[in-house]
Amino acid sequence: MVEEQRKVTRNTMSKFLRGSHMYDLIIIGGGSGGVRASRIAASHGAKVALIESSMHHGPPDFSAIGGTCVNVGCVPKKLMVYASHFSEAHHGGEGYGWSAVSSTFDWNKFMVKKNEEISRLNGVYGRMLGGAGVEIIEGKGSFKNHHEILIEKKDGTSSVISGETIVISVGGWPFKPSLKGIEHAITSNEIFYLKEQPKRVVVVGGGYIAVEFACILHGLGSEVNLLYRGELFLRGFDLDIRKHLEKQMDSCGVQLHFKSNPQEIKKNADGTLTVITEKGESYECDAVLYATGRVAKTDNLGLDNTDVKTSNGFIPVDAGSKTNVDNIYAVGDVTDRIALTPVALHEGHCLADTLYGGKTRKPDHEYVTSAVFSNPEIATVGYTEEAAASAFQNISVYTSEFRPMSNILSGSPLRAFMKIIVDDATDRVVGVHVCCDHAAEIMQGVGIAVKTGASKADFDATIGIHPTSAEELVTMRTPSYKYKNGAKL
Ligand code: FAD
Repeated sequence: MVEEQRKVTRNTMSKFLRGSHMYDLIIIGGGSGGVRASRIAASHGAKVALIESSMHHGPPDFSAIGGTCVNVGCVPKKLMVYASHFSEAHHGGEGYGWSAVSSTFDWNKFMVKKNEEISRLNGVYGRMLGGAGVEIIEGKGSFKNHHEILIEKKDGTSSVISGETIVISVGGWPFKPSLKGIEHAITSNEIFYLKEQPKRVVVVGGGYIAVEFACILHGLGSEVNLLYRGELFLRGFDLDIRKHLEKQMDSCGVQLHFKSNPQEIKKNADGTLTVITEKGESYECDAVLYATGRVAKTDNLGLDNTDVKTSNGFIPVDAGSKTNVDNIYAVGDVTDRIALTPVALHEGHCLADTLYGGKTRKPDHEYVTSAVFSNPEIATVGYTEEAAASAFQNISVYTSEFRPMSNILSGSPLRAFMKIIVDDATDRVVGVHVCCDHAAEIMQGVGIAVKTGASKADFDATIGIHPTSAEELVTMRTPSYKYKNGAKL
């Protein structure tokens, strides 16, 4: 406490403060990007104010200090992913000699535990930022002009603060299309606060959030129908991986309906819902979860009082995260670059180092590893086969599909798939895509190799860990097929 106090006092004196502004830096939005930028800027000696609408998670704001990731994104979702795997483990145990386990999932008990953990994290973030000397201001921030920010607090009071530099890190918000009955649908925000587990769920969408929730809810015992208007979910991921996951989800009993788009959601007299699609199919359920993308949270931000340009609500920035206005920057999801927590952290860190740390750092968006926490998981780094075939003249593609050892005795039908893509001109591995249990944990290490330019010869020279699924990545020797001048041979 004394230490925190000391740091706060020290930091009210800025080594950068210029002109008549109250702060060197004002950051609007205390999510991944804003938290990292504010903490690093303060550690470099800047006087920083961080404005966040709430210090504690939950409706109606949903997000709070720590941002989407901590409150209504990565963290609570991953806790649900963990919870969803127990049914499979209980089932599979019989094949390994365990007596049958009869288990039921208690949604409320889980939610209480989940909420305790998120509250704990809200506290950790608040203390960590306070300790670093960041002044956290709870309220909604909006621009009065290029340097002045109006803060509206929950108790109805308001104030205005001014800063030399402003960073916008307000993140995004779930998008719901306009549709008859859409008010009956929930989004990824509300799912974390539902009072009861929906026994039958229709998930609408084809992005990673839709796919993850379809797998989570299925694992928790709900009947899941996923509707997506496109040909196949997970656009932008490697096509073979998407097809592989489709088969696995299908074999587990998640009901997938592609080229299927809701036209209307009806509320029935007994409280259930019916989704009617454009093709005339109907699905009765207890909840409709829309995961059809996210929009930037830039409405009500007072951008009309500035010259900051937007594009579909998002804020375009240059390579150094600067908007078209000299003293205003933006980081994270609001910039529509790569909407992932580690990317927002990286952008915030680079910006703070550049503005106050005496070193120019531009965020690097190449070879970013990412995962889909489906069942089984997908993890990926680098080019998809489709993108590599057009980016490089000649490529070799190595693939392997197999039944992981753990699934043999357990009787799980799930199979693994792995793909390595190599640029023939340099032998560099330019893409790795994996769909199997623990794919994300595997990919983090592989990502370092690919990011630092490992060649296929380096992969071949690496001795595997046996017996694992991951050893397949260092034992694929013969290309499954090649591309010459963009054409598959
Ligand atoms: P955010 O984290 O969204 O933070 C913005 C903050 O600004 C919010 O706390 C908000 O309350 C505040 N705010 C907004 N407007 C104002 C205002 N006017 N005044 C004051 N405060 C304001 N990423 C991963 O890497 N891995 C995952 O597994 C993953 N899973 C996800 C699952 C879900 C369901 C969702 C929705 C997202 C997931 N993401 C995941 C994405 C990740 O959460 C975001 O990329 C990340 O949080 C972006 O950080 P940010 O700083 O841009 O914004």
